[in-house]
Amino acid sequence: MTILVTGGAGYIGSHAVQRLLRDGHRVVSLDNFFRGHARAMGLLGAKFPGKLESVVGDVTNRECVLEAIRTFGVTTVMHFAAHAYVGESVEQPLVYYHNNVTGLVSVLWACDQAGAGGKRVTRFVFSSSCSTYGQPPAGMIPVREDCPQAPVSPYGRTKLIGEQILRDYAESKRMAGTEFACTFLRYFNVCGCDRSGVLGEDHTPETHLIPVVLQAAMGQRPHVGLFGTDYPTPDGTCVRDYVHVEDLVDAHVRAMSTANAADVRAYNVGIGKGYSVRQIVDTVRAVTGREIKVVEQPRRAGDPPEVFNDPTKIKRELGWNPQVTDIREMIASAWKWFEANPRGYGA
Ligand code: UDP
Repeated sequence: MTILVTGGAGYIGSHAVQRLLRDGHRVVSLDNFFRGHARAMGLLGAKFPGKLESVVGDVTNRECVLEAIRTFGVTTVMHFAAHAYVGESVEQPLVYYHNNVTGLVSVLWACDQAGAGGKRVTRFVFSSSCSTYGQPPAGMIPVREDCPQAPVSPYGRTKLIGEQILRDYAESKRMAGTEFACTFLRYFNVCGCDRSGVLGEDHTPETHLIPVVLQAAMGQRPHVGLFGTDYPTPDGTCVRDYVHVEDLVDAHVRAMSTANAADVRAYNVGIGKGYSVRQIVDTVRAVTGREIKVVEQPRRAGDPPEVFNDPTKIKRELGWNPQVTDIREMIASAWKWFEANPRGYGA
């Protein structure tokens, strides 16, 4: 099977590419290298010779996506390419709507056009987000998939709109009697790195909590800002559900291999435990043995106080069983890569 991975050079996309190559698939990565890393592609290309095609292009360039699908006979798409910073989405909403919403429409247009003359894309896995729920109402945490979706950030809204676009597109295909199955995976907080040590997490700018705290542990930042210490949570800081990137990728593989004809399915991907920002900082201290200075700061716009998952549905229907459930092990896998690559992929 040939799988198109958009955003294949990014943090999650590259881990997906590696897993699919390991499983014996042919993979076409499409990435504009704006935030993705050519070096990650180089490492994977060398590890799996002849199996990976790395196309440099932007998902909003629909002709480029169409050419990639047609040239390589793609039948499955995993659509990771997106901007994914909540704070940045508040400051630059148009950039987010363009990249995340227009980008999705462009990829679907290409799938549609390719089907008219060549191999048909019949499976689509979409990177959605727990941020589509916003702050779930009292009594709905842990969060199930039927929780009302009411995002509180532009980023979350782009993902909810993406789900709606896919529902409409899938319905049009169902009515036309054309096979198209799609799965929305609503990610909780993805973290950790490839445990074989090849791939890592390297964002510029880095804003995600765990890598930020690891950079502070490494002395690359003077301190970690705690964004809000007066939330209605046990220690006043936000609570999130952290899932290891390889377990997240495993959910994609299961979504792809279990999809049937006209399915439109949604699954939350989070292990079902919440950790506060302070607990994460303490765990990084324990894992690294380093001192980390924290500075209390105001709340960050767009952050809900507490979100963690109820993984019942994904476990029951996809047989998903996360292998890394200990937050220390998640952080240790990231620390191992950071220690070996203190300058990230730029080393
Ligand atoms: N956070 C923080 N300091 C930082 C980065 C993040 O206090 O330097 C908090 C952030 O406000 C949120 C949590 O850590 O409550 C997780 O943020 P992250 O950006 O990692 O993921 P998000 O939940 O926004 O997807």
